Formats: sequence, structure tokens, C-alpha cells
Amino acid sequence: MASSDWGYDGPNGPEQWVKLYPIANGSKQSPIDIKTSETKHDPSLKSFSVSYNPATAKEIVNVGHSFHVNFEDSDDRSVLKGGPLSDSYRLCQFHFHWGSTDDYGSEHTVDGVKYSAELHLVHWNSAKYSSRAEAISQADGLAIIGVLMKVGQANPKLQKVLDALNAVKTKGKKAPFTNFDPSIFLPSSSDYWTYPGSLTHPPLFESVTWLVYKESISVSSEQLAQFRSLLSNVEGGKAVPIQHNNRPPQPLKGRTVRASF
Ligand SMILES: [Zn+2]
Repeated sequence: MASSDWGYDGPNGPEQWVKLYPIANGSKQSPIDIKTSETKHDPSLKSFSVSYNPATAKEIVNVGHSFHVNFEDSDDRSVLKGGPLSDSYRLCQFHFHWGSTDDYGSEHTVDGVKYSAELHLVHWNSAKYSSRAEAISQADGLAIIGVLMKVGQANPKLQKVLDALNAVKTKGKKAPFTNFDPSIFLPSSSDYWTYPGSLTHPPLFESVTWLVYKESISVSSEQLAQFRSLLSNVEGGKAVPIQHNNRPPQPLKGRTVRASF
């Protein structure tokens, strides 16, 4: 498989990534199953805070295995700080993971429970590095907020994103996506888990401080179906929907998952 050829099925699927990306079997891979009885409450762990400027929202892009909403990250207008982080991290992108049915789709699981989808808000360490490209492979380079999504009531906060999908139906398509503050997605309780991990797809760099909210947000079955209606093919090609794009949980390998609560 070519390096651009990784995917989520069969010969390109997560079990095969290690052939091109040996770090797939590394000691700090993500996602993980969060076993709540083995997490460690850390009383020194304060809440983290996000401050996002809606004017930094830029565009939505179909990347073939998912879609990304990208943010202008040339300055510190949209940042994440606090909690386990000693630096300020700049928002560059958010995306979702989902499954082919509502029974699974999240990347992180909690006591073995799979959620239907998961939101990732990606930030890079702008105090120490000059670009996302530089930060992405550094141990303290990235901080990603994960929000588990439970099937149930429709989530009106997803509407602007879902409405934008029509404009990026096929791989490589791009459309403006402006004036948006993704902190509207965050759960009301600030309780979270944190652990050192990785990107969940190639290149799988072990550069991520994960912040996973304990509380989930809702998504309806119809909204999940809209994620799955996005296509992985380029325009004019055979229509291949992005049915699922979640990596299964990886071994903890001695890491401690700390809880803020
Ligand atoms: Zn992700």
C-alpha cells in the first residue's frame, strides 16, 4: 500500500498500518479504552479552558477518509490552555469519527462501551513551535480534545456542519466555513480524563496530550447517516461512502490515565 493508501478496510485497514508505520505498535498509541476503575484522580489537575474566536474558522475539506473544518492558525486568536498543559495550544482543525452503524464509531471507549461518534478538536503548541507541521511530531506538540457522541436526540449545534457537507461531497472538495466557534460542542461538565497518546491515524505520531470529556454530547441517527453519506471517491468516480473511520482501542502499555474528578 502506498503511504496515501491507508484506510479503514481490509488490506488498508488499521491492522495493516504497522507495515508502513511501525509506530502503530508503539508504547503511546491512541485511542484507548478508558477503564474507569484504573484511572487516577489527580487533585492538582485543574480545568482547561478554550477561547475560540469565530473569525478564525476558515474552510471545510473532504479528505477522503473524513472531513476537516480548518481554522486560521497564524496567531493565538483561538487557543486551549490549562489543565495538564504547561503551554498554550492553538486550534487548527476539528473533525469527527463515526461507524457504519449507530452501535459503534467512537475511537475512545469507556469501560468497553462504544459511543456512536467522536469529535476531535486539534491544537498545536504555539508557545514552543512555529507551525503545526513542526509541532506534529514533537512529544509536547499537540493537544486534542475528544468529545464522545451518544446516539439519541438530534444535536442542533451540528447543523451548520451538516449543512456544509453537501458542498464537499467528494474527496478533495473544499468550501468556505466561516464565523464559527466550536466550543458550542463542548459538554456542560468540565470533568475530563487525560493521558499521553498519539494521532489515531497515520502518521500516528506519539505527540498528543489527550483531553477526553467524561460527559458525552448527543447526535441523532439521522445526523450520523449524514456523516456516512459523505463520499471517499473523487468527483466522477464510483460513489464510495465513508462508512466508518474509527481506529479500535490500542494497548495502554503502562500509561496512567488521570481524571480531573
Ligand atoms: Zn481524530
